[in-house]
Amino acid sequence: MPKRLNDEITFMILPHSGHTPFSFKMSWGVLVFCLTILFFGALFVVGTFFFALSVNSKLSDYQIVKSQNARQVEEIRQLKIESESLKKDLKRLSDEERELRSNLGIPEPSDSTSKAKSDKSSSIEGINPIGSEEMGNLFGVSMDPRLANIKNDLSIVRTQLSSRERSFLQISQIAKRKINEYASFPTGFPADGVITSYFGYRPAFGDFHPGIDVATSYGSPIYATGDGVVVFAGWYLSGYGMTVIIDHGNGYETIYAHDSAFAVRVGQRVKRGEVIAYIGLTGFTTGPHVHYEVHHYGRTINPMSVIGANPAEL
Ligand SMILES: [Zn+2]
Repeated sequence: MPKRLNDEITFMILPHSGHTPFSFKMSWGVLVFCLTILFFGALFVVGTFFFALSVNSKLSDYQIVKSQNARQVEEIRQLKIESESLKKDLKRLSDEERELRSNLGIPEPSDSTSKAKSDKSSSIEGINPIGSEEMGNLFGVSMDPRLANIKNDLSIVRTQLSSRERSFLQISQIAKRKINEYASFPTGFPADGVITSYFGYRPAFGDFHPGIDVATSYGSPIYATGDGVVVFAGWYLSGYGMTVIIDHGNGYETIYAHDSAFAVRVGQRVKRGEVIAYIGLTGFTTGPHVHYEVHHYGRTINPMSVIGANPAEL
């Protein structure tokens, strides 16, 4: 090592091709200075290279995140549109259900489920029951509040849909029962003919007529006035002659007397309008007609009060 920086050293370059050797000299100070510059210069170049590499990588990550973010924003926008559309559909469904219930005379369900439903339904129309922050925490701290809101809405829609499904099932069951009730109600006419005698006291005969007489030509069809089961087909008492009796359920029975022949047998299920017998002259009768009676829980009622009537209005 040199004693002083001013001491000089000589560098000699000896080319192998026989050219003149070349030498130069410099002080130790200059050499140390040059080496220091060279070292820091190299350090700067290498540092700059890695810095640029890192910046470039970060820039690329940023571009990816930016494009992902843009895609997510678009997805959230689409989700929001779908969620709004679902809420509108649900609102329409609820309105139709309410109208259906009103038309069929079915009251709104009054259980706790419906209370929860109505609470939720107010939220669907604008009031958010769970704060978006709270919702965000449920799904992860970093959740976008817009997304949390949509998830909240969708959760409400899901709850409401299941509630609507239960409600429609109930309406459907009641409607089926009402349809069956109506189908079996004896509201039809027993024959295509003319009414020759009404229900009630008959001064001309001095008796009480427990049904109506519908006259038409001998052998014409007699129809079941409602769905039911044939519980009798034979000779009934002395004056009725050949008679069919149908049980319609709900306490109703109908009697078709003075028949000439039967088209059904006991135990057979019949529909309203189905031919069950034919007009005749059996029993006490002065001309071909069907004597038609309606019984309700064993009591004779005026057939005219139920012919063409709607059981729901009685
Ligand atoms: Zn009669």
